[in-house]
Amino acid sequence: MPEIRVDENRCKGCELCTKACPKECISMSQTFSVTGYYPAQLAKQDCCIGCGLCAQICPDLAISVWK
Ligand code: SF4
Ligand code: SF4
Repeated sequence: MPEIRVDENRCKGCELCTKACPKECISMSQTFSVTGYYPAQLAKQDCCIGCGLCAQICPDLAISVWK
């Protein structure tokens, strides 16, 4: 299955990716990153279809999609 990786050092916690994902695979972490934000994370296993919308919408280039 495809998956995403979120660079916590880049993520500013804007939540745009959670709204962009058509499968609602992304949620926000409950734990602060070292930069002081709640970063996005892949919330569900075997959820991502690799469409890349989350990576495209992220203003901080924090998401990479792996297929
Ligand atoms: S690549 Fe597509 S399906 Fe996967 S997490 Fe991003 S928006 Fe959701
Ligand atoms: S769109 Fe980018 S910066 Fe915003 S929450 Fe998602 S990964 Fe973080």
